[in-house]
Amino acid sequence: MKTAISVFALLLLCLVSSSTSAQKSSKIYSKVQKALDKKDYYDMIDLLERLPKEEKATAPYNKNMALALDSLKRYASAIKYYNRYLDLVKDSAATQRLAFIVDKEEKRILAWKAKLIRIKDCPKCNGTDTVYTEMSCMSCGGAGQIRKPCSRCQGRAIVACSTCMGKGSLPSPNGPIPCGSCQGGGTQRCNSCERGYNEESCSGCNGSRRTMTHLKCDLHD
Ligand SMILES: [Zn+2]
Ligand SMILES: [Zn+2]
Ligand SMILES: [Zn+2]
Ligand SMILES: [Zn+2]
Repeated sequence: MKTAISVFALLLLCLVSSSTSAQKSSKIYSKVQKALDKKDYYDMIDLLERLPKEEKATAPYNKNMALALDSLKRYASAIKYYNRYLDLVKDSAATQRLAFIVDKEEKRILAWKAKLIRIKDCPKCNGTDTVYTEMSCMSCGGAGQIRKPCSRCQGRAIVACSTCMGKGSLPSPNGPIPCGSCQGGGTQRCNSCERGYNEESCSGCNGSRRTMTHLKCDLHD
């Protein structure tokens, strides 16, 4: 008696869980339909992925996946789902659509292969799809040198007079006398720069004025 009850309970549990799983799936499908109406194909795929595993062997799942991927132009994946769907159900519209995108995919692959061959034999890029061009250096505007403020005088072109240390006067037994080197001004011309600036070799081009830039080869797309 006890076993009979527990078997019954187990059966009931199975029934309940399968019906809730079916309810869950039908809820998801109605959301999938709404997403399809709104042309929200990424949303559609997200929703379909949430279906229980056993549902993924069914026609509605595979059809919806095929539709979403087809709309997103992910034809290679769409073909896979159309095939699974058509293994389960006869659908002439889907069969026609599948034939159309299979043809499209084949042409795309052929074009891609042809392009690869064109690149491989390209005399301009030698199959690398990249060409190197010399361009005027962007860092120095093609000058090869960059003007930088003098680090000694910070661009002021004058520094403190070295004779009077910038005081403008020198001590003497009769009191301070004006510094002869700077005429009392306390400053002298900076001899580390030219009017406060120094030309430095550009680090972008090492002073060569030009840099090598690689560009996509333009003999093919
Ligand atoms: Zn090329
Ligand atoms: Zn200076
Ligand atoms: Zn001085
Ligand atoms: Zn430069």
